[in-house]
Amino acid sequence: MKEKGKIMDCWAILNDQMVDSSNAKQHLRRCQDTPRPNLPLPTSRIQVSYRGKILSRVHIKTLYKDFTSSDLALYWAKKTRMNPEADKFIDWQSLGRAKQTIPAGLDRWLIKHCSGHCGTAYKLKQRRQLTHSRCPLCEAPVENIWHLLRCSDQWATTTWNEQLLSLEAWLKKASYTHTSIRILILKGLKHWRFTETDYPPRQPTQPDLIYQCTLEQFDIGWFNFLLGRIAKHWALAQDAHYKSLGKRRTGQSWAKGLILVELWTINWNIWEHRNTRKHTEDTPEAQATLDDLQEQVRQEFRIGPAGMLPQDQHLLSSPTTVFRHYRTIPQLQSWILKIQLAREYASRTLAEQALQQQQTNQQNSAASRKFLFDFLRHGHATVSPTFGRPLNPNGTLLTYDDDDVDSSVFSTRHTPIELSSADSVDVNSTPQPKL
Ligand SMILES: [Zn+2]
Repeated sequence: MKEKGKIMDCWAILNDQMVDSSNAKQHLRRCQDTPRPNLPLPTSRIQVSYRGKILSRVHIKTLYKDFTSSDLALYWAKKTRMNPEADKFIDWQSLGRAKQTIPAGLDRWLIKHCSGHCGTAYKLKQRRQLTHSRCPLCEAPVENIWHLLRCSDQWATTTWNEQLLSLEAWLKKASYTHTSIRILILKGLKHWRFTETDYPPRQPTQPDLIYQCTLEQFDIGWFNFLLGRIAKHWALAQDAHYKSLGKRRTGQSWAKGLILVELWTINWNIWEHRNTRKHTEDTPEAQATLDDLQEQVRQEFRIGPAGMLPQDQHLLSSPTTVFRHYRTIPQLQSWILKIQLAREYASRTLAEQALQQQQTNQQNSAASRKFLFDFLRHGHATVSPTFGRPLNPNGTLLTYDDDDVDSSVFSTRHTPIELSSADSVDVNSTPQPKL
């Protein structure tokens, strides 16, 4: 508290500031849930309109309702082939908790992957980075997110099976998952991948939580399960199982672990495997690229070293040597780039030399005219030391016999010729003498 007439020490000042800060925080806490009125901003460069009004402040909680409106839900349901009514069955809380714990880089990839915007051939073709949408592993006509997870390539299938074994081990040993839940999850994923249909729920003798899981997941779809959109009842069923075992774990932590530790890891490993295979030479696409690059190398040898500088011509000595030392796609690409740069450099160097020669010739011509003009006017003239010297064909300068002498003087005995203004000589940039 400030006292009149008293000088505050540093501790009192800090205390005073803390009180102000505390008041500000309390005020912010009171206001943050109250939508502030919209103020028009006539000079704003970027405008956000909401229901026909330009917003001066984006209130996320208000807009979120519209972002999750029926239109948007229908769009995503159609995109992910999900029953539009099944959105309410998804365990969004567990998914949100799992998402908060992943690193930012993985989070960015996951958003693109789950929304179908990662760099599959289908998307690369849409972005005009590829001319086709074929799968680089199995040559299927369209490689999208669905195909990526169900690719029929032998090694892709092996990777999938390895991932399922890892998931089974986690369900069995690490998380004490209920046996029926474990079997249903593994069956559902395998059924979806190998038959391209969702695993249908089996009618039990009496309805229970696990049966409810399969019903909800059937509506959500097993593709969505693989991406982390699991039904709420999985966590409830597992929670009941933990309670029956007397464990302190909860179904929510189990669901978060299932999404984070297993399902997203499966997606990531499949994506990594696909990229590793795509960039090695044992796929049809990579083999075609390799053949194309080898043909480009042969074409460079057919063109030959003409137009390249002498110091670079050894690059085109022997195709056998090149193919022996440059075998992979990156190596061949680097060799072709090297040749292209050597040709460009030679072309640029020759053009610069030609320009330099042209400038030298122009200087010589101007100096010759000046020399002649001086000689005719004064009866003697001096060779300028800056007189350009011609180049030899090999690029070296020609030398004078008396190279130590910077200039030479020429003279004649006859009287200088008087030039009138009518006899002026055009010496280009040479200034006209005062007569
Ligand atoms: Zn494929």
